[in-house]
Amino acid sequence: MEIKVELSKKLKPKPNFNKLGFGKFFTDHMFVMDYTNDIGWHDPRIVPYSNFEIPPASLILHYGQSVFEGLKAYKTKADGKITLFRPQKNFERLNKSNNRLCIPQIDVDFALEALCKLVSLEKDWIPTNEGTALYIRPFIFATESMLGIHPSNTYKFVIILSPVGSYLSNGLTPVNIAIESNYVRAVKGGSGHVKASANYAISLKGQVVGKSKGFDQVLWLDGVEKKYIEEVGSMNIFFKIGGKLVTPLADGSILEGITRDSIITLAKSWGYEVVEKKISIQELYEAFQLGKLEESFGCGTAAVVSPIGKFLWEDKEIIVSNGQLGKFTKKLYNHLTGIQYGKEKDEFDWIREVK
Ligand SMILES: *Cc1c(COP(=O)(O)O)cnc(C)c1O
Repeated sequence: MEIKVELSKKLKPKPNFNKLGFGKFFTDHMFVMDYTNDIGWHDPRIVPYSNFEIPPASLILHYGQSVFEGLKAYKTKADGKITLFRPQKNFERLNKSNNRLCIPQIDVDFALEALCKLVSLEKDWIPTNEGTALYIRPFIFATESMLGIHPSNTYKFVIILSPVGSYLSNGLTPVNIAIESNYVRAVKGGSGHVKASANYAISLKGQVVGKSKGFDQVLWLDGVEKKYIEEVGSMNIFFKIGGKLVTPLADGSILEGITRDSIITLAKSWGYEVVEKKISIQELYEAFQLGKLEESFGCGTAAVVSPIGKFLWEDKEIIVSNGQLGKFTKKLYNHLTGIQYGKEKDEFDWIREVK
């Protein structure tokens, strides 16, 4: 399929790249492609960033049939190359999400080609300051106008781009976490293992309650026993306990983060033992009491790593690294961003250059 390009007649002024925040500004163009049951995916195009017109009865507005992805384009300091970090994985995961939500599969290589073409066109929007990047948001939603509940017969696949600063306004400052034992985010058999929009809608309440009590994020427990640690906010979670790296086993209700996978690979290559297992909140508390809980952090594309300074579990505090940024967390942050910004050797072939 040929990707048609319609250039914007009036380019927007660029925002102040020192004050970007997260996801507030959008570039001049976007990628759009349509799906209908009879022709499949068709009419791929890059067009000026603009509103959609959708019927009030569109399935997305009523039943939430929608999936998304998130990745970043970086500009390397030394030679101004544009890089993507394991982008193939994002489109493979998008197809996994599609499958769970009864949305038709996309062609991974074609989506990647479209993405590179769009990023290349918008390359002046890639900020270069420490911690900044061009955030890429591919998403698919159901457009059919019909109130009967069924998988839509029509969809839109869209990619929009947003120059972003550091995801967390306070950078690598350790955050306080409330352990949520009332609301749950996902259960096995549901959609917690894929990036379905609905997951984020149902996680809002717990986050709002946590924020109102002064916490930065909530730690989600498993939806059945409310006993095992799952994720933190919309990030995967890691602990360094007695020298080993421990992370919850991704067995159906946890999103399999690309950052999570990259951290496991890096830590193993540095000689650390990495344990993926069910870890109960009781076990975490005991590790803390024995003085074995050394570090903890959340991880994901947006924040890279986010150090955790304190958990509150019912009335018990679990303090990590004296509330300071741990050495291992910092090393991981530096190494991962180093690969992304072209300062560290890309020994696992994770970087794809955009020409
Ligand atoms: C996107 C996401 C992550 C992180 O995934 P990455 O591929 O590392 O960006 C973790 N948990 C949830 C719930 C997510 O939506």
